[in-house]
Amino acid sequence: MQWYTPVPTAATGLSCRGCGGTYPRTYMLDCPACHSLLQVEYDLEALAALRPGDLRGDTLWRYAPFLPIGDPRHFISLGEGLTPLLRLPRLGQRLGLRHLYLKFEGTNPTGTVKDRSTATAIAAAQEFGFNAVAVVSTGNAGSSIAAYGARAGLKTFVFCYARAAQPKMHHMAACASHLILYRGGYDDLIRIYDRLMEEMPIFEAGASRSTYKMEGKKTIAYETFEQLGNQAPDYFVAPVAVGETFIAAWRAFNELFAIGWAGKVPTMVAAQSSEANPIVEALRDGGPIRPRPIGYTIAEGTAVGNPERKGEWALQILREGKGLAADASDPEVLEAQALLARTEGMWAGPTGCVPLAALRKLVTQQALDPDAVIVCVASESGLKGEYAPVEREAIEPDEAHLRAILREGLAAG
Ligand SMILES: [Zn+2]
Repeated sequence: MQWYTPVPTAATGLSCRGCGGTYPRTYMLDCPACHSLLQVEYDLEALAALRPGDLRGDTLWRYAPFLPIGDPRHFISLGEGLTPLLRLPRLGQRLGLRHLYLKFEGTNPTGTVKDRSTATAIAAAQEFGFNAVAVVSTGNAGSSIAAYGARAGLKTFVFCYARAAQPKMHHMAACASHLILYRGGYDDLIRIYDRLMEEMPIFEAGASRSTYKMEGKKTIAYETFEQLGNQAPDYFVAPVAVGETFIAAWRAFNELFAIGWAGKVPTMVAAQSSEANPIVEALRDGGPIRPRPIGYTIAEGTAVGNPERKGEWALQILREGKGLAADASDPEVLEAQALLARTEGMWAGPTGCVPLAALRKLVTQQALDPDAVIVCVASESGLKGEYAPVEREAIEPDEAHLRAILREGLAAG
């Protein structure tokens, strides 16, 4: 595959979100001085010298100058990114929203938004000389890391929630060199996993700390900007578990504003499952994030009761940017999933429908301007989910009976 890039990367190094310390662009899990999260810094003047027309290519590496990988030989792709931004006229009319769009991430190679962050994670693993990567997952991230790890010829240790949907499990078992199922929830494993990652020569590709991984998800915002005719939307609605997609999109919109490409930064809207909504609760109550034990939710990808430091970052973005947040119960998520399928023909998974379900609540509360340009993320395809059997009675192929069914269907409203 050929890569075209006007400059390999404008990344200059890392900075600490806690103490402000700066570090070179190396592999570090957190700040050696204060253990806060690190973020990648970019030369904004170098980026401002570019124009949108300078971006080339039909994968995520189209945005290579905005991503933290220095050597194009480490770029890796299964064809991720450039997902459709689809206008939703029928659903918009139902909700009373005149400019509603869906960024449908189900067309990524493993069917989810995770492929964006996986591409930069695996590229970074190669750039920093690792032969093995690991991830803790409720299914989607595990599938994605397993697939891209195989593509790069790396060893993959995928720790997966034992209740993950079977289609995801089959996908991981097929691609991963090591698939390890664990009992309990994400919150039960993450502390042990974090300690092990500090000991072992394994690239940590989990969502809670990995600095380089999150950068890949910025591309969802660059694409949205280009697909809207080089404009930022008024609202950007994203799912929040640990907060990676949400924070990355906000960072990207801020970069586009800082370099003079975009005229504004959208109002960010965080969507969570009601079963795992510590950020929605904190924003509503005005207090800190209170980690909570969580039960099962059909929106598997949002099942995080303690989003830790990235959750605090997401909450800060919401508070400082006067953002909005809403949660949705499992029945509300399934209702949004069915509504999207029936009105617009898009089959997104339950996790992917949390933003739409949350948006419907905000519309009911009249929290949004109905004339605004609203982009809602559907983070996954519905084809990887597991569902109860469809209830329909099978019939004999009798011509008269079938004719009657068709006539009745045509006559119905
Ligand atoms: Zn620090």
